[in-house]
Amino acid sequence: MLHTSPDPNRRHTSLTSAIWILLIAAIFATAVLTQRSLSRLADSREVITHSLFINKALNDMMSQMLDAETGQRGFLLSGRAPYLQPYYTALAQVRQSRAALGSALSQDSSALAPLDVLDKAIAAKLQDLDHAVSLKSEGRSDEAVLLILTDSGNQTMNAVRLAVRSLESDQVRRTNLLQAEIEKEIRNYYLVLGVSILVNLILLVGLVQRFRNASVQRDAAQQVVDERNVELSRLLAAAATRNAQVQGLSELSRFLQSCADIEEAAGLLKQHLPPLMWAASGSLYLAVAEQDTLRQAFTWGDKSFIEYFESNECWAARLRQPFRQPFETGSASCAHLQSAYAIAHNNNNIQCLPLLAYGELLGIVVLEADVLSDPQEGLEIEGSRRFALEQVGLSIGNLKLRESLRQASIRDVLTGLYNRRFFDESSQREMMRALRQQTKGDYAGLALMMIDIDHFKRFNDQHGHEVGDQVLREVAQVLQSQTRGSDVAARFGGEEFTIVLADITEQLALERAELVRQGVEQLVLRTSGKDIGTITISIGLAQFPAHGTTVEALLLAADKALYEAKSSGRNRVVVAT
Ligand code: GH3
Ligand code: MG
Ligand code: MG
Repeated sequence: MLHTSPDPNRRHTSLTSAIWILLIAAIFATAVLTQRSLSRLADSREVITHSLFINKALNDMMSQMLDAETGQRGFLLSGRAPYLQPYYTALAQVRQSRAALGSALSQDSSALAPLDVLDKAIAAKLQDLDHAVSLKSEGRSDEAVLLILTDSGNQTMNAVRLAVRSLESDQVRRTNLLQAEIEKEIRNYYLVLGVSILVNLILLVGLVQRFRNASVQRDAAQQVVDERNVELSRLLAAAATRNAQVQGLSELSRFLQSCADIEEAAGLLKQHLPPLMWAASGSLYLAVAEQDTLRQAFTWGDKSFIEYFESNECWAARLRQPFRQPFETGSASCAHLQSAYAIAHNNNNIQCLPLLAYGELLGIVVLEADVLSDPQEGLEIEGSRRFALEQVGLSIGNLKLRESLRQASIRDVLTGLYNRRFFDESSQREMMRALRQQTKGDYAGLALMMIDIDHFKRFNDQHGHEVGDQVLREVAQVLQSQTRGSDVAARFGGEEFTIVLADITEQLALERAELVRQGVEQLVLRTSGKDIGTITISIGLAQFPAHGTTVEALLLAADKALYEAKSSGRNRVVVAT
C-alpha cells in the first residue's frame, strides 16, 4: 500500500487562497460599514437641518404674529388705513409659515396634536385682532380700544407663544433623541469598522508574510536548482573530457598494437602519454628485460628525473600500487627520489604509478603535479590516470607478449641466435635484395659463412653434453659480437652455424671470417672453475655472385669450402672456388 504524505506546496497554496478570500470579504464588509456610517452621518445632518427649519418656521410665525398685532395697534391708535398694510402682510406671512411648518411636520404624527393647539391659538388671536379692526373700521373706536385694554389680547398671544414653545421644545427633545440614536449607531459602526480594518491589516500582513516566505522558499529552491545545474555542467564537462580521453586512449592503444617493438611504442607514448597524466612534469621508466632495472624512456616538463633505478628502490614497483610521496615528512619514501632531484620537488605532489600487465611490472610513471584544492577534481584526475595507465599497460603487455612469441619463433633456444627457419627466410630476402641491387648496378656485395666446430664430438665425449651446450652458447656469443645489425648469425643445426653478411666485399668478408675464427680460438673455456682448454672452428666462405646466385648454390659452395678447411687441417677459413 502506498502512503502519500500531503504535499506541503499544495497546503501552502490552499491556505494562501483562504486568506485571500477572507481578505476580500473583510474589505467588502469594511466598504459596506463605511458606506453605512457615512449615510448615517448624512441622516444626522438632515435631522439637524430639519429641526433648524422647523425652529425657524416657528420663530418666523411668532414674530409675524407680533408684527400683525403691531400693525393692528397702529391702525387702532392712528385710525389711518395705510397702517393696515403691515397688518395684512403679516397675516399673509403667518399663513405661509404655517403652511411650511405643516409640510415640514407632515410625516410626524406626534406633532399633529400640538399643531392643532397652535392652529387654535393662532385662530383665536387672529379673530381677536380682526374683531378690533372691524370695530375701528365701523367707527366704533372706543369699543376697539376697550378690546385692546382688556387682557384678552395678551392672553391669546400668550396661548400662541405657549403653543409655539411647546412645539419647539418637543422638536428639540425629539431631535436630540434622534441625534443620540444616530450618534450611537455611528459609534457602533466605527467600532465594527475599526475591527474590520484591523482584520484587514492582519490578513494583509499574513499574505505579505506568506509571499515573502514563498519567495524565500523559491529562492532556496532556485539555489538548489542552480547548484544542481552547476553540478550537472561539471559532470557533463567531466564526461566530455572522459570521452575525449577514452577516444584518445583507444587510438593510442591501436597504434601501440601495431608497433614493432617497445622502442617504437616508447616514441609514441612520449607524444601521447603526458596529456593523459595531467601533470606538469613526469617521466616514464620501462622495465629492462630480464633485469630488475627501470630505465627512463622519456621525460616531460621542466623537472629532471634520475635516469634509471632498481625496482626495489620504488614503493610503487614493490607494492604494484600507486604511491604518493609523503613530502610532509621532508623526504621522499622512494629511494630513487631521495636525491638532488627530489629536493627541488619539495612541497609538490609527487607520485609513482606502476605500469602493469597481467601482474607483470612493465614500468613506472613518476609524476609531479600541482596539489588540487578541489578533492573531487583530484579523485577524477586520479581515476583518469589509473584508467589511462591500465590501457597503456595492457597495450605494452600485449606488445611484449607478441614480441616474445615472435622471438621464440625465430630464435634458437640454446644459443639465442636466429634459428634455421629465420635463416632460410632472411637469406632468401637478402639474396633477392642483392639481385635487385645487381640489376640496378649498385651492388655492394653479399657473403655467406658456413661454420662448424672442430672435433666437437670428441669434446662432448670428454666433458659431457652440458659443457658442450655451454661451449655452443659461448661460440654463439662470439658470432653475435662479430656481426653488424644487418648481418644474420644463425644456428644452422647441431654445432654448425651460418652468417649472412650484407653489403660486403669478398676481401672484407674474409677479414671478418678470420676475426670470428680468432675470437673462438681465443675463448678460454672453464667449467666449475676448471680450465678445459680451447676450441676451434672451421669456416667455408662463399660470395655472391661469384660462387652462386641462389642461397642453395651459395650454401653448397660454402659447405664445399668448409669441407676443404676441415680436410686441410681445421681451424681455418677457406674461400669457395
Ligand atoms: P669435425 O671436426 O669433423 O666436425 O668433428 P666433429 O666431432 O664435430 O664431427 P661431427 O660433425 O660428426 O659431430 C658433431 C657432434 O656435435 C655430434 C654431437 O655430439 C655434437 N652435437 C650436435 N648438436 C649438439 C648439441 O646441441 N649439444 C651438444 N652438446 N652437442 C651437440
Ligand atoms: Mg658438424
Ligand atoms: Mg664439427
